[in-house]
Amino acid sequence: MVDPVPEPVLEVVEVGPRDGLQNESVLLGTDAKVAYIGALVEAGLRRIEATSFVHPGRVPQMADAEAVMARVPRPDGVSYIGLVVNERGLDRALDAGVDEVNVVVVSTETFCRRNQGMSVAESVRSFGVISARAKAAGLRVTATVGASFGCPFEGEVAPETVAGLARQCAESGADEIALADTIGVGVPADVTRLTAAVREVTGLPLRFHFHNTRNTGYANALAAVAAGASALDASAGGIGGCPFAPAATGNIATEDLAYALRRSGVPVDVELDRLLAASALVEAELGAHNPALLGRAGDFPGTLSEERSAG
Ligand code: MG
Repeated sequence: MVDPVPEPVLEVVEVGPRDGLQNESVLLGTDAKVAYIGALVEAGLRRIEATSFVHPGRVPQMADAEAVMARVPRPDGVSYIGLVVNERGLDRALDAGVDEVNVVVVSTETFCRRNQGMSVAESVRSFGVISARAKAAGLRVTATVGASFGCPFEGEVAPETVAGLARQCAESGADEIALADTIGVGVPADVTRLTAAVREVTGLPLRFHFHNTRNTGYANALAAVAAGASALDASAGGIGGCPFAPAATGNIATEDLAYALRRSGVPVDVELDRLLAASALVEAELGAHNPALLGRAGDFPGTLSEERSAG
């Protein structure tokens, strides 16, 4: 008899330490970042975008990328992702010992120029070079198509444009395609449409990156699951944004996403109590209320604490 095929577990990729922290005005020290990442590992998260290897003058929050990677816990099964935008970043990521690289290409010329100082065609060529070198070093490679759902400078982005970039990245060796709603403009119908367009050109695993800028982030995440996503990005506490995208607010929150997925019957390997502890830790460091709501409302079913029922 053939063994039953195991239920695929949706991967939640924790991006708080990278996409979350890089857009916060409070600069966290290395100790705090390492503690935050440690708490995320304790919560059960297994793919963590730990940092970004970009020029420290451009993103000062990530200037200690090497120091963070040198000190993160390394239990079996935990994979650390470093974001890179050029070969210099890849050199640093390889030296720092990341397990995966996330390489960004951007869907429009204006945003691509502002985000990484090159044309779209150059960013695709650069992806190919980075991808080949990273794979030769044994790393998993994700191609993220930034501004897949719309551009802050050029407006609407055609799904065919995004699919074209996804195809080129797939042909250049990507192991996974990530579709990023960098400025949080997408709605579930866009997710369905874009997924269909990308599915025409590649069978690679699809990861999605949503921001909750217009309160559509969670609906988009569930639409992505329905469309066959294998991974979703989220940040504990819902912190973060994008330093080069005007008015992009936080990522969808890992705890709120995990709650919605679990209640929808999608298994997620996360311990909510410990995840809330990780969010509380980073909230205390940032000194401002996180946008995430589960920590305030509580899990369900659960028992109301005396304090809550009295209030
Ligand atoms: Mg982002």
